[in-house]
Amino acid sequence: MQFKPKVKAPHPEFVANMQKILQKNELMTVCEAAACPNRAECYERSSATFMILGDVCTRACTFCNVKTGHGVSVDADEPKKLANAIEELGLQYVVISSVDRDDLKDYGAGHFADCVRAVKEKNPDIKIELLTPDFHYDTKALDIVIQSGAYKLAHNQETVRRLSKSVRPQSDYDRSLKVLEYYAKKSHLRVKSSLMLGLGESENELRYSMRELLDVGVSELTLGQYLQPTSKHHKVEKYYSQEFFDAIKEEAYAMGFDAVASGILVRSSYFAEELGR
Ligand code: SF4
Ligand code: SF4
Repeated sequence: MQFKPKVKAPHPEFVANMQKILQKNELMTVCEAAACPNRAECYERSSATFMILGDVCTRACTFCNVKTGHGVSVDADEPKKLANAIEELGLQYVVISSVDRDDLKDYGAGHFADCVRAVKEKNPDIKIELLTPDFHYDTKALDIVIQSGAYKLAHNQETVRRLSKSVRPQSDYDRSLKVLEYYAKKSHLRVKSSLMLGLGESENELRYSMRELLDVGVSELTLGQYLQPTSKHHKVEKYYSQEFFDAIKEEAYAMGFDAVASGILVRSSYFAEELGR
């Protein structure tokens, strides 16, 4: 089945300006790398998601279009470049995310914290949400990001328990829950997670995963339709209607989540600055 969501085209000037500043500072955004369909809305609201620590991931999730590999060098100037680009773009809310760096001693946690500090020094009023890997549940690494000065912490569970091993072969469903629980218990910050729909889960499995996230202290949830990046990636098993996304959002609120974004094009960083303000 062909699926063509209707989206507003990003304003060419916003995109050109973003690309120019990214290139000059040798930075990447998830927005541009994934040609995210929400760019028009996000750029107009001065919001973007940056990807630090390179564009090569040590893991190979079956839904993800990022390259897999090891040993890519870390740009020690990236925190400074990020701070400069954010200032130049006049952004007020940013999400900083990364590929998984299982090849680094601290899994990249120190670099996350350096980025937060550099960005806040240059942009004192900014709010920074960190969307982190699981850092192998290394509590030293988790403490580093907790103490970084971030406004919000997020880690994506991505899919339901039964599908997790096949969809995220190097990750672990329970390890992700433990990371989220640690963030919630130790940080006193809002903790967010995200699930993709359409990978083959049943509706009850989805509800069960939502409950598990809530039980470990996740207060903000995003739910979006999985779209296959190329024909080699995990198949889309089901397209959900917007009515379903609206109904499950109501269920999520009734379960006890504080903030929920749910919709076909919702991504983990969609309307990040509005969610759970
Ligand atoms: Fe960027 Fe996230 Fe907005 Fe997409 S939803 S444009 S990745 S901030
Ligand atoms: Fe993609 Fe993240 Fe999985 Fe790496 S860990 S393959 S970046 S989804």
